[in-house]
Amino acid sequence: MTIRALVSQRVVTPQGVRAAGVLVEDERIHNVVEIGEVPSEAATENFGDCAILPGLVDSHVHMNEPGRTDWEGFFTGTRAAAAGGYTLLVDMPLNSLPATTTVAALEAKRGAARASSRVDWALWGGVVRDNQEHIEELATAGVAGFKCFLIDAGIDGFTSVSEGDLRAALPHVVKTGLPLLVHAELDGPVDAAARKLQHEDWTRYQTYLRSRPEEAELEAIDLLLRLCREFRFPVHIVHLSTARALERLQKAKAEGLPVSVETCPHYLHFAAEQIADGDTLSKCAPPIRGAENREQLWQGLREGIIDLVATDHSPCPPAMKELSEGHFRKAWGGIASLSVALPVVWTEARKRGFALGDIARWMCEGPARLAGCSAQKGRITAGYDADLVIFAPEEEFLVTDERLHYRHRVSAYLGERLSGVVKKTLVRGTCVYEGGEFPGDRLGREWRRN
Ligand SMILES: [Zn+2]
Repeated sequence: MTIRALVSQRVVTPQGVRAAGVLVEDERIHNVVEIGEVPSEAATENFGDCAILPGLVDSHVHMNEPGRTDWEGFFTGTRAAAAGGYTLLVDMPLNSLPATTTVAALEAKRGAARASSRVDWALWGGVVRDNQEHIEELATAGVAGFKCFLIDAGIDGFTSVSEGDLRAALPHVVKTGLPLLVHAELDGPVDAAARKLQHEDWTRYQTYLRSRPEEAELEAIDLLLRLCREFRFPVHIVHLSTARALERLQKAKAEGLPVSVETCPHYLHFAAEQIADGDTLSKCAPPIRGAENREQLWQGLREGIIDLVATDHSPCPPAMKELSEGHFRKAWGGIASLSVALPVVWTEARKRGFALGDIARWMCEGPARLAGCSAQKGRITAGYDADLVIFAPEEEFLVTDERLHYRHRVSAYLGERLSGVVKKTLVRGTCVYEGGEFPGDRLGREWRRN
Protein backbone atom coordinates (compact mmCIF):
# COMPACT_ATOMS: atom_id res chain seq x y z
CA MET A 1 0.00 0.00 0.00
CA THR A 2 1.34 3.46 -0.86
CA ILE A 3 1.72 6.10 1.78
CA ARG A 4 0.72 9.71 1.26
CA ALA A 5 1.86 12.57 3.44
CA LEU A 6 -0.04 15.75 4.29
CA VAL A 7 2.40 18.25 5.72
CA SER A 8 1.66 21.45 7.61
CA GLN A 9 3.21 23.82 10.14
CA ARG A 10 0.04 23.47 12.22
CA VAL A 11 -1.30 19.94 12.62
CA VAL A 12 -3.91 19.87 15.38
CA THR A 13 -3.20 16.71 17.38
CA PRO A 14 -4.52 15.71 20.82
CA GLN A 15 -1.05 16.51 22.21
CA GLY A 16 -1.06 20.02 20.76
CA VAL A 17 -0.61 21.96 17.53
CA ARG A 18 2.70 21.20 15.83
CA ALA A 19 4.57 21.09 12.54
CA ALA A 20 4.15 17.55 11.29
CA GLY A 21 3.47 15.15 8.46
CA VAL A 22 0.25 13.15 8.62
CA LEU A 23 0.96 9.84 6.91
CA VAL A 24 -2.12 8.32 5.32
CA GLU A 25 -2.31 4.73 4.17
CA ASP A 26 -5.51 3.76 2.42
CA GLU A 27 -8.35 5.05 4.65
CA ARG A 28 -6.40 5.42 7.88
CA ILE A 29 -3.85 7.64 9.53
CA HIS A 30 -0.72 5.50 9.53
CA ASN A 31 1.31 7.87 11.71
CA VAL A 32 1.99 11.49 12.58
CA VAL A 33 5.70 12.30 12.26
CA GLU A 34 8.17 15.18 12.31
CA ILE A 35 8.39 16.81 8.89
CA GLY A 36 11.99 15.59 8.51
CA GLU A 37 10.81 12.03 9.03
CA VAL A 38 8.31 11.93 6.17
CA PRO A 39 9.43 8.98 4.00
CA SER A 40 10.96 10.21 0.76
CA GLU A 41 8.85 7.80 -1.31
CA ALA A 42 5.56 9.21 0.10
CA ALA A 43 3.46 11.35 -2.24
CA THR A 44 3.59 14.60 -0.31
CA GLU A 45 1.29 17.63 -0.27
CA ASN A 46 2.57 20.59 1.73
CA PHE A 47 -0.11 22.90 3.08
CA GLY A 48 2.36 25.29 4.67
CA ASP A 49 0.69 27.55 7.23
CA CYS A 50 -2.79 26.14 6.67
CA ALA A 51 -3.86 24.08 9.66
CA ILE A 52 -4.78 20.40 9.44
CA LEU A 53 -7.69 19.68 11.74
CA PRO A 54 -9.42 16.36 12.39
CA GLY A 55 -12.60 16.04 10.32
CA LEU A 56 -15.44 17.66 12.25
CA VAL A 57 -18.20 15.51 13.72
CA ASP A 58 -21.68 16.98 13.94
CA SER A 59 -23.76 15.05 16.42
CA HIS A 60 -26.89 17.13 15.80
CA VAL A 61 -28.28 17.53 12.28
CA HIS A 62 -31.69 17.20 10.65
CA MET A 63 -31.41 15.83 7.11
CA ASN A 64 -35.21 15.48 6.84
CA GLU A 65 -34.92 12.49 4.49
CA PRO A 66 -36.87 10.37 3.76
CA GLY A 67 -40.15 12.22 3.64
CA ARG A 68 -39.17 15.88 3.74
CA THR A 69 -36.35 15.91 1.20
CA ASP A 70 -37.74 19.18 -0.13
CA TRP A 71 -36.51 20.71 3.16
CA GLU A 72 -33.00 19.22 2.96
CA GLY A 73 -31.67 15.74 2.20
CA PHE A 74 -28.55 13.62 2.45
CA PHE A 75 -27.25 14.73 -0.95
CA THR A 76 -27.45 18.46 -0.29
CA GLY A 77 -26.87 18.25 3.46
CA THR A 78 -23.70 16.18 3.20
CA ARG A 79 -22.44 18.43 0.40
CA ALA A 80 -22.80 21.38 2.78
CA ALA A 81 -21.10 19.31 5.47
CA ALA A 82 -18.11 18.51 3.24
CA ALA A 83 -17.72 22.21 2.41
CA GLY A 84 -17.86 23.01 6.12
CA GLY A 85 -15.15 20.52 7.13
CA TYR A 86 -17.53 17.95 8.59
CA THR A 87 -16.73 14.31 7.86
CA LEU A 88 -19.35 12.58 10.04
CA LEU A 89 -22.95 13.61 10.69
CA VAL A 90 -25.28 12.00 13.18
CA ASP A 91 -28.85 12.53 12.06
CA MET A 92 -31.72 13.22 14.43
CA PRO A 93 -34.72 10.88 14.37
CA LEU A 94 -37.27 13.56 13.59
CA ASN A 95 -38.28 15.70 10.63
CA SER A 96 -37.91 12.64 8.42
CA LEU A 97 -41.04 10.65 7.61
CA PRO A 98 -41.25 8.13 9.06
CA ALA A 99 -39.49 9.35 12.19
CA THR A 100 -36.76 6.95 13.32
CA THR A 101 -38.73 5.31 16.12
CA THR A 102 -38.81 1.72 14.79
CA VAL A 103 -36.30 -0.54 13.06
CA ALA A 104 -38.30 -0.36 9.82
CA ALA A 105 -38.04 3.43 9.87
CA LEU A 106 -34.31 3.16 10.64
CA GLU A 107 -33.84 0.96 7.57
CA ALA A 108 -35.76 3.44 5.42
CA LYS A 109 -33.44 6.23 6.51
CA ARG A 110 -30.37 4.03 5.97
CA GLY A 111 -31.46 3.46 2.39
CA ALA A 112 -31.70 7.20 1.79
CA ALA A 113 -28.38 7.97 3.46
CA ARG A 114 -26.49 5.21 1.63
CA ALA A 115 -27.69 6.43 -1.74
CA SER A 116 -26.63 10.04 -1.37
CA SER A 117 -24.06 10.80 1.34
CA ARG A 118 -20.71 12.43 0.60
CA VAL A 119 -19.53 12.15 4.21
CA ASP A 120 -19.87 9.43 6.83
CA TRP A 121 -23.03 9.26 8.89
CA ALA A 122 -24.71 7.59 11.83
CA LEU A 123 -28.27 7.73 13.11
CA TRP A 124 -29.98 8.52 16.39
CA GLY A 125 -33.16 6.65 17.25
CA GLY A 126 -36.23 8.33 18.71
CA VAL A 127 -37.85 7.86 22.11
CA VAL A 128 -41.49 8.91 21.82
CA ARG A 129 -44.66 8.43 23.83
CA ASP A 130 -45.45 4.91 22.65
CA ASN A 131 -42.32 3.20 21.30
CA GLN A 132 -40.77 1.75 24.49
CA GLU A 133 -40.80 -1.77 23.06
CA HIS A 134 -38.72 -0.62 20.07
CA ILE A 135 -35.87 0.94 22.05
CA GLU A 136 -33.69 -2.14 22.56
CA GLU A 137 -34.35 -3.34 18.99
CA LEU A 138 -33.18 0.01 17.67
CA ALA A 139 -29.98 -0.34 19.69
CA THR A 140 -29.36 -3.82 18.31
CA ALA A 141 -30.02 -2.49 14.82
CA GLY A 142 -27.23 0.07 15.26
CA VAL A 143 -28.46 3.49 16.38
CA ALA A 144 -25.80 5.56 18.15
CA GLY A 145 -28.20 6.53 20.93
CA PHE A 146 -31.60 8.13 21.40
CA LYS A 147 -33.29 11.50 21.25
CA CYS A 148 -36.46 12.71 22.92
CA PHE A 149 -38.37 15.95 23.40
CA LEU A 150 -39.81 17.14 26.71
CA ILE A 151 -41.87 19.76 24.87
CA ASP A 152 -43.92 19.64 21.69
CA ALA A 153 -41.45 19.26 18.81
CA GLY A 154 -43.58 21.40 16.52
CA ILE A 155 -43.67 18.73 13.83
CA ASP A 156 -45.95 15.81 13.00
CA GLY A 157 -44.70 12.28 13.58
CA PHE A 158 -42.66 12.81 16.75
CA THR A 159 -44.45 13.04 20.09
CA SER A 160 -42.92 14.55 23.20
CA VAL A 161 -42.49 12.53 26.39
CA SER A 162 -43.73 13.28 29.90
CA GLU A 163 -41.93 12.23 33.06
CA GLY A 164 -44.20 9.17 33.12
CA ASP A 165 -43.28 8.26 29.54
CA LEU A 166 -39.62 8.65 30.40
CA ARG A 167 -39.99 6.40 33.42
CA ALA A 168 -41.44 3.74 31.10
CA ALA A 169 -38.66 4.21 28.53
CA LEU A 170 -35.59 4.58 30.74
CA PRO A 171 -35.24 0.95 31.88
CA HIS A 172 -34.93 0.03 28.17
CA VAL A 173 -32.49 2.87 27.47
CA VAL A 174 -30.37 1.81 30.46
CA LYS A 175 -30.12 -1.74 29.08
CA THR A 176 -28.68 -0.43 25.82
CA GLY A 177 -26.00 1.62 27.58
CA LEU A 178 -26.47 4.30 24.92
CA PRO A 179 -26.94 8.01 25.61
CA LEU A 180 -30.32 9.74 25.66
CA LEU A 181 -30.19 13.17 24.04
CA VAL A 182 -32.89 15.48 25.27
CA HIS A 183 -34.49 18.66 24.02
CA ALA A 184 -34.67 20.20 27.47
CA GLU A 185 -37.56 22.64 27.66
CA LEU A 186 -40.78 21.97 29.58
CA ASP A 187 -44.25 22.86 28.33
CA GLY A 188 -45.43 24.46 31.57
CA PRO A 189 -43.40 27.70 31.58
CA VAL A 190 -43.71 28.05 27.78
CA ASP A 191 -47.51 27.65 27.82
CA ALA A 192 -47.85 30.11 30.71
CA ALA A 193 -45.72 32.66 28.85
CA ALA A 194 -47.62 32.14 25.60
CA ARG A 195 -50.98 32.82 27.28
CA LYS A 196 -49.74 36.20 28.47
CA LEU A 197 -48.31 37.08 25.06
CA GLN A 198 -51.32 36.19 22.95
CA HIS A 199 -52.08 39.78 21.96
CA GLU A 200 -48.51 41.00 21.69
CA ASP A 201 -46.77 41.96 18.48
CA TRP A 202 -45.28 38.68 17.19
CA THR A 203 -43.10 40.40 14.63
CA ARG A 204 -40.95 41.58 17.56
CA TYR A 205 -38.05 39.32 18.53
CA GLN A 206 -38.58 40.25 22.18
CA THR A 207 -42.06 38.69 22.06
CA TYR A 208 -40.62 35.42 20.83
CA LEU A 209 -37.80 35.54 23.38
CA ARG A 210 -40.29 36.05 26.22
CA SER A 211 -42.35 33.12 24.93
CA ARG A 212 -39.48 30.67 25.64
CA PRO A 213 -38.41 31.62 29.18
CA GLU A 214 -35.25 30.30 30.75
CA GLU A 215 -37.35 28.54 33.39
CA ALA A 216 -38.50 26.08 30.71
CA GLU A 217 -34.90 24.96 30.24
CA LEU A 218 -34.01 25.07 33.92
CA GLU A 219 -37.00 22.99 35.04
CA ALA A 220 -36.40 20.45 32.28
CA ILE A 221 -32.76 20.08 33.25
CA ASP A 222 -33.70 19.65 36.91
CA LEU A 223 -36.10 16.86 35.94
CA LEU A 224 -33.43 15.15 33.84
CA LEU A 225 -30.80 15.36 36.56
CA ARG A 226 -33.27 13.82 39.02
CA LEU A 227 -34.00 10.97 36.62
CA CYS A 228 -30.30 10.55 35.86
CA ARG A 229 -29.56 10.20 39.56
CA GLU A 230 -32.28 7.55 39.83
CA PHE A 231 -31.71 5.55 36.61
CA ARG A 232 -27.99 6.30 35.96
CA PHE A 233 -28.22 6.68 32.20
CA PRO A 234 -25.91 8.86 30.08
CA VAL A 235 -28.00 11.98 29.51
CA HIS A 236 -27.01 14.65 27.00
CA ILE A 237 -28.55 18.13 26.96
CA VAL A 238 -28.80 19.27 23.34
CA HIS A 239 -28.60 22.94 22.32
CA LEU A 240 -28.24 24.54 25.74
CA SER A 241 -29.26 28.18 25.43
CA THR A 242 -29.50 29.53 28.97
CA ALA A 243 -26.25 30.00 30.86
CA ARG A 244 -28.24 30.03 34.09
CA ALA A 245 -28.21 26.21 33.87
CA LEU A 246 -24.42 25.99 34.02
CA GLU A 247 -24.10 25.99 37.78
CA ARG A 248 -26.45 23.06 38.30
CA LEU A 249 -24.83 21.17 35.41
CA GLN A 250 -21.41 21.72 36.93
CA LYS A 251 -22.64 20.39 40.26
CA ALA A 252 -24.20 17.36 38.59
CA LYS A 253 -20.90 16.59 36.86
CA ALA A 254 -18.99 17.05 40.10
CA GLU A 255 -21.40 14.61 41.72
CA GLY A 256 -20.39 12.07 39.08
CA LEU A 257 -23.64 11.98 37.12
CA PRO A 258 -23.11 10.88 33.50
CA VAL A 259 -24.31 14.15 31.99
CA SER A 260 -22.95 15.94 28.93
CA VAL A 261 -23.89 19.27 27.39
CA GLU A 262 -23.87 20.85 23.96
CA THR A 263 -24.44 24.34 22.66
CA CYS A 264 -24.66 25.61 19.08
CA PRO A 265 -22.83 28.13 16.89
CA HIS A 266 -25.83 30.50 16.84
CA TYR A 267 -25.90 30.82 20.64
CA LEU A 268 -22.18 31.57 20.61
CA HIS A 269 -22.35 34.14 17.79
CA PHE A 270 -25.63 36.04 17.84
CA ALA A 271 -27.27 37.97 20.66
CA ALA A 272 -30.92 38.88 21.17
CA GLU A 273 -30.09 42.61 21.26
CA GLN A 274 -28.90 42.44 17.64
CA ILE A 275 -31.78 40.46 16.16
CA ALA A 276 -34.05 42.73 14.14
CA ASP A 277 -37.80 42.54 14.51
CA GLY A 278 -39.24 40.38 11.74
CA ASP A 279 -35.93 38.50 11.29
CA THR A 280 -37.40 35.02 11.56
CA LEU A 281 -34.22 33.50 10.08
CA SER A 282 -32.91 33.81 13.64
CA LYS A 283 -35.76 31.84 15.17
CA CYS A 284 -34.79 28.62 16.91
CA ALA A 285 -35.82 26.87 20.11
CA PRO A 286 -34.66 27.43 22.75
CA PRO A 287 -34.11 31.00 21.56
CA ILE A 288 -30.94 33.04 21.14
CA ARG A 289 -30.69 35.04 24.36
CA GLY A 290 -28.81 38.21 25.37
CA ALA A 291 -25.15 39.15 24.90
CA GLU A 292 -24.31 38.62 28.56
CA ASN A 293 -25.76 35.11 28.41
CA ARG A 294 -23.64 34.44 25.32
CA GLU A 295 -20.46 35.38 27.20
CA GLN A 296 -21.44 33.05 30.02
CA LEU A 297 -21.88 30.20 27.52
CA TRP A 298 -18.31 30.85 26.37
CA GLN A 299 -17.25 30.68 29.98
CA GLY A 300 -19.10 27.33 30.23
CA LEU A 301 -16.99 26.06 27.34
CA ARG A 302 -13.84 27.42 28.97
CA GLU A 303 -14.63 25.56 32.19
CA GLY A 304 -15.57 22.34 30.40
CA ILE A 305 -19.17 22.39 31.67
CA ILE A 306 -20.27 22.51 28.04
CA ASP A 307 -18.64 19.55 26.31
CA LEU A 308 -19.26 20.17 22.66
CA VAL A 309 -20.61 22.38 19.90
CA ALA A 310 -23.05 20.88 17.38
CA THR A 311 -24.90 22.77 14.67
CA ASP A 312 -28.55 21.68 15.06
CA HIS A 313 -28.60 22.22 11.28
CA SER A 314 -32.35 22.37 10.74
CA PRO A 315 -33.38 23.93 7.45
CA CYS A 316 -36.80 24.29 5.84
CA PRO A 317 -38.18 25.66 2.59
CA PRO A 318 -37.76 29.47 2.70
CA ALA A 319 -41.53 30.08 2.62
CA MET A 320 -41.83 28.41 6.03
CA LYS A 321 -39.71 31.16 7.55
CA GLU A 322 -42.62 33.56 6.87
CA LEU A 323 -40.15 36.28 5.96
CA SER A 324 -42.67 38.55 4.26
CA GLU A 325 -44.75 38.77 7.42
CA GLY A 326 -41.88 38.29 9.89
CA HIS A 327 -44.20 36.51 12.30
CA PHE A 328 -42.19 34.69 14.97
CA ARG A 329 -44.99 32.40 16.10
CA LYS A 330 -45.83 31.16 12.60
CA ALA A 331 -42.26 30.82 11.31
CA TRP A 332 -40.42 27.49 11.40
CA GLY A 333 -37.72 27.45 14.05
CA GLY A 334 -34.31 26.22 13.02
CA ILE A 335 -30.98 27.63 11.89
CA ALA A 336 -28.99 25.92 9.16
CA SER A 337 -25.24 26.32 9.46
CA LEU A 338 -23.39 23.20 8.30
CA SER A 339 -21.14 24.93 5.76
CA VAL A 340 -20.20 27.89 7.98
CA ALA A 341 -20.28 26.55 11.55
CA LEU A 342 -16.50 26.09 11.80
CA PRO A 343 -15.66 29.67 10.75
CA VAL A 344 -18.51 31.03 12.90
CA VAL A 345 -17.23 29.30 16.04
CA TRP A 346 -13.58 29.97 15.19
CA THR A 347 -14.22 33.70 14.56
CA GLU A 348 -15.80 34.03 18.00
CA ALA A 349 -13.35 31.69 19.73
CA ARG A 350 -10.14 33.43 18.63
CA LYS A 351 -11.54 36.80 19.79
CA ARG A 352 -11.79 35.25 23.25
CA GLY A 353 -8.32 33.76 23.27
CA PHE A 354 -9.12 30.17 22.35
CA ALA A 355 -6.94 28.11 20.01
CA LEU A 356 -7.45 25.49 17.30
CA GLY A 357 -7.00 22.73 19.87
CA ASP A 358 -10.15 23.97 21.62
CA ILE A 359 -12.07 23.79 18.35
CA ALA A 360 -10.93 20.18 17.93
CA ARG A 361 -12.11 19.34 21.45
CA TRP A 362 -15.57 20.92 20.95
CA MET A 363 -16.28 20.07 17.33
CA CYS A 364 -14.35 16.82 16.73
CA GLU A 365 -13.53 14.88 19.91
CA GLY A 366 -16.59 15.85 21.96
CA PRO A 367 -19.25 14.92 19.40
CA ALA A 368 -17.32 11.74 18.48
CA ARG A 369 -17.37 10.70 22.13
CA LEU A 370 -21.11 11.32 22.36
CA ALA A 371 -21.76 9.24 19.25
CA GLY A 372 -19.55 6.41 20.55
CA CYS A 373 -16.97 6.63 17.77
CA SER A 374 -14.12 8.35 19.61
CA ALA A 375 -11.79 5.37 19.12
CA GLN A 376 -11.93 5.85 15.35
CA LYS A 377 -12.97 9.44 14.59
CA GLY A 378 -12.30 12.98 15.80
CA ARG A 379 -8.52 12.91 16.29
CA ILE A 380 -5.36 13.06 14.24
CA THR A 381 -3.68 9.99 15.68
CA ALA A 382 -2.22 6.79 14.25
CA GLY A 383 -4.91 4.22 13.54
CA TYR A 384 -7.77 6.72 13.27
CA ASP A 385 -9.76 7.29 10.09
CA ALA A 386 -8.02 9.76 7.78
CA ASP A 387 -10.80 12.34 8.15
CA LEU A 388 -8.96 15.63 7.72
CA VAL A 389 -9.68 19.30 7.08
CA ILE A 390 -7.29 21.80 5.58
CA PHE A 391 -8.20 25.11 7.17
CA ALA A 392 -6.82 28.63 6.67
CA PRO A 393 -7.53 30.17 10.09
CA GLU A 394 -6.56 33.77 9.32
CA GLU A 395 -8.20 34.08 5.91
CA GLU A 396 -11.42 36.10 5.95
CA PHE A 397 -14.50 35.78 3.78
CA LEU A 398 -18.00 37.14 3.40
CA VAL A 399 -20.90 34.68 3.81
CA THR A 400 -22.74 34.68 0.49
CA ASP A 401 -25.29 32.18 -0.73
CA GLU A 402 -22.68 30.39 -2.92
CA ARG A 403 -20.91 29.42 0.32
CA LEU A 404 -23.89 27.56 1.79
CA HIS A 405 -24.24 24.45 -0.42
CA TYR A 406 -27.34 23.08 1.32
CA ARG A 407 -30.69 22.86 -0.42
CA HIS A 408 -32.18 26.25 0.41
CA ARG A 409 -29.53 28.91 0.48
CA VAL A 410 -31.07 31.12 3.12
CA SER A 411 -29.23 31.80 6.34
CA ALA A 412 -29.09 34.04 9.37
CA TYR A 413 -25.35 34.29 8.65
CA LEU A 414 -25.58 35.85 5.17
CA GLY A 415 -23.56 39.04 4.95
CA GLU A 416 -21.34 38.22 7.93
CA ARG A 417 -17.56 38.56 7.62
CA LEU A 418 -15.88 35.53 9.18
CA SER A 419 -12.36 34.23 9.78
CA GLY A 420 -11.27 30.79 8.69
CA VAL A 421 -11.69 29.16 5.29
CA VAL A 422 -12.11 25.43 4.72
CA LYS A 423 -9.80 24.68 1.78
CA LYS A 424 -10.17 20.94 1.53
CA THR A 425 -11.94 18.06 3.28
CA LEU A 426 -10.94 14.40 3.20
CA VAL A 427 -13.16 11.53 4.29
CA ARG A 428 -11.14 8.39 5.05
CA GLY A 429 -8.33 9.68 2.87
CA THR A 430 -10.43 10.70 -0.14
CA CYS A 431 -11.00 14.35 -1.05
CA VAL A 432 -14.70 15.23 -0.95
CA TYR A 433 -14.35 19.02 -1.08
CA GLU A 434 -11.72 21.36 -2.46
CA GLY A 435 -12.00 25.06 -3.31
CA GLY A 436 -15.73 25.08 -4.01
CA GLU A 437 -15.71 21.76 -5.89
CA PHE A 438 -16.94 18.34 -4.80
CA PRO A 439 -14.69 15.67 -6.31
CA GLY A 440 -15.12 12.03 -5.45
CA ASP A 441 -18.38 10.21 -5.42
CA ARG A 442 -20.93 9.71 -2.70
CA LEU A 443 -18.58 7.65 -0.62
CA GLY A 444 -20.17 8.33 2.77
CA ARG A 445 -20.50 5.22 4.87
CA GLU A 446 -22.47 4.47 7.99
CA TRP A 447 -20.47 4.48 11.18
CA ARG A 448 -21.62 1.67 13.50
CA ARG A 449 -20.32 0.44 16.78
CA ASN A 450 -20.05 -3.15 15.56
ZN1 LIG B 1 -32.44 19.69 16.56
